[in-house]
Amino acid sequence: MRETAAVSIFQGKVAVITGAGSGIGKSLAEELARRGARVVISDINSGRIENTAEGIARSGGKVTAATLDVSDYEAVKSMVEGTLATHGRIDYLFNNAGIAIAGPAKEFTIEDWRRVMDINLYGVVHGIAVAYPLMVKQGWGHIVNTASIEGLVPFPATVSYVASKYAVVGLSSALRIEGAAHGVRVSVVCPGYVRTAIFADSKIIGMDRQNIKGLIDRLGVTPEECARIILGGVERNEATIIVTFYAKFLCFINRLIPGLWVWLMARNYRKAVENGMIR
Ligand code: NAD
Repeated sequence: MRETAAVSIFQGKVAVITGAGSGIGKSLAEELARRGARVVISDINSGRIENTAEGIARSGGKVTAATLDVSDYEAVKSMVEGTLATHGRIDYLFNNAGIAIAGPAKEFTIEDWRRVMDINLYGVVHGIAVAYPLMVKQGWGHIVNTASIEGLVPFPATVSYVASKYAVVGLSSALRIEGAAHGVRVSVVCPGYVRTAIFADSKIIGMDRQNIKGLIDRLGVTPEECARIILGGVERNEATIIVTFYAKFLCFINRLIPGLWVWLMARNYRKAVENGMIR
């Protein structure tokens, strides 16, 4: 384990992280374990989550892993309750698991819409429905929900994703107000592009996967960097943790000149349709 100068606030704490088999969730789990937290990690992909767990255990971290689908309420309930029963407390819940489906909204099937909402929105709701009342009873806890810059600013070609992430931002901001009365903190994470597997794994309809990958490689940060920024925001109990310079800049411009981004995107989207880059 890497030496850290001061004792971390995460030292000795119990942190639950969903979608920890890859990308941001994996880096969060590794960094939290490095800072002395016991991490309870899960993912829908058993190979990935075992790999994360083995890596953490090899480095001397305290880790428990489970394979589960966050859209399955009973599975999330049993994992959270099991954590409380085993460790006697839950200090942090990182509702991180998420997927994206990219393409024009006219091509989305009802199953595409439901899948994105079931994982990105209901996955978060399930974690909250179980862990929040337990944290209220404890009198402490911190829930960290991963939304996206697409939960603060609208993007075309990922409309279902945008819908789910705006919902997560709204739910987190409102729950933060209630939670404050009970000692429970709530933060929402809004990253710009992060170089993870999400777009390689995503269903992409009528668009070129390589173009999307190129954009992320150019503008994205690494998941390790993203995790460190998130944990910095959690330490400071920030309401909204925006990751990447570009995402912060976009929020700033959108507040300064409302409508500019929408105008720009509408223009670019129309051009992309005319050029055949989007179906
Ligand atoms: P990733 O694909 O690298 O990791 C996501 C993990 O979630 C994967 O291991 C996957 O197997 C798991 N997962 C997917 N569906 C699941 C389910 N139903 N139940 C449990 N686990 C499931 O992606 P990432 O980029 O690290 O994404 C993490 C979060 O960050 C997501 O909520 C995503 O929307 C958000 N985000 C990512 C970016 C980005 O550019 N990568 C930007 C903004 C927000």
